[in-house]
Amino acid sequence: MSNSLVLVINSGSSSLKFALIDTVSGESTLSGLGECFGLPEANVSWKINGEKQEYKLDDSGNHHQQAVNRIVALLEELGIKQDIVAVGHRVVHGGEKFTKTVKIDEAVVQEIENLSDLAPLHNPAHAIGMRVAMKAFPTLAQYAVFDTAFHQTMPAKAYIGAISQKLYKEYGIRRYGFHGTSHYFVSREAAKMINKPIDESSFISVHLGNGASVCAIKNGKSVDTSMGFTPLSGLMMGTRCGDLDPSIIEFMLKKGWSPEEVFKELNSKSGLLGVSGLTSDCRGIIEAMENGHEGATLAFDIFTYRVSKYIGSYMVALDKLDGIIFTAGIGENSQPIRSKILENLKIFGYLEDEEANAAARFGNRGIITKPNTPVAMVIPTNEEWVIAKESMALLHA
Ligand code: AMP
Repeated sequence: MSNSLVLVINSGSSSLKFALIDTVSGESTLSGLGECFGLPEANVSWKINGEKQEYKLDDSGNHHQQAVNRIVALLEELGIKQDIVAVGHRVVHGGEKFTKTVKIDEAVVQEIENLSDLAPLHNPAHAIGMRVAMKAFPTLAQYAVFDTAFHQTMPAKAYIGAISQKLYKEYGIRRYGFHGTSHYFVSREAAKMINKPIDESSFISVHLGNGASVCAIKNGKSVDTSMGFTPLSGLMMGTRCGDLDPSIIEFMLKKGWSPEEVFKELNSKSGLLGVSGLTSDCRGIIEAMENGHEGATLAFDIFTYRVSKYIGSYMVALDKLDGIIFTAGIGENSQPIRSKILENLKIFGYLEDEEANAAARFGNRGIITKPNTPVAMVIPTNEEWVIAKESMALLHA
């Protein structure tokens, strides 16, 4: 195990996820979560041998630093701190500045902070996480891995909006795309599954979690993706609306909503939650639908219809298609969602293999369409693994 461990950190505004990844075996030997930062119930918890342990943070403030200090103490208690060779940080927005993983120093943290107006909920929190980790692990190299980086290969026709170029040049308004680390990972795994080199393989990768996006991948490279300037566009999500006529925003403002209220409505109260009036959780939607709940049934229909439309339209971005890949919480686990999407795509020849679709759940991967029909597959994503591997690769570069 020694010299192969990377600590992966995903720092949010009120939370901090961490995972210790063994870059040789691919296993996560320890993972945990700090949450409720800024509140009296702030804590950090982790699982060892399936058993959850929780540590309460005190009210002296700076919960990010307290959480990381507790993680350091835990690693010392477990006798594995000395085996960690690098720290990898997940960063949501790299703008056009960061097209690949970079080694972190104070100048890089500053650049990531400078991109905060593009990702106000994420980048400032990442910068906090990096600074506390640099303090806690002063001798370790630290790396930033960007959700947007994989999409920097998109052609201009995919990332420039049909608006005045002035808005792109002055404000950087364009499609950036997110979930890049996930789309990158599952496409590499899919190429292995069909025994083809990744640079000769083309896929449509469908990441369906609380956040959801589709990515057209041509010869291993992202050529289009459904999230845009922010993660709000594209598919219907747990609480986000996805694509929407922009005039609706002006209409709501004229009706007396404030910009903040509109933002909150479209980001946090829409999607599966807004349409069903019930829950943002796909499991709850399916259960309610099976019990005849009308809102849940409509939410299911819109969700699956929109994913299918995106898949259909992304065939235009590719000159061949080796497979549709389903991943993330819903994509990896929900047989009914995948089944409906494949049914919607029957005009393209997709034919569900019901037994294979039922088996590809809870971490099991597999092809879920019938032999000799177009391929759709399920591949569990592993963003932490990519972050750890990229960090390790740069460490040894
Ligand atoms: P993620 O953001 O990738 O963690 O995915 C969260 C989403 O996955 C939520 O909507 C969950 O309801 C959904 N999910 C997790 N497990 C299942 C399952 N067994 N069946 C259906 N949806 C699931």
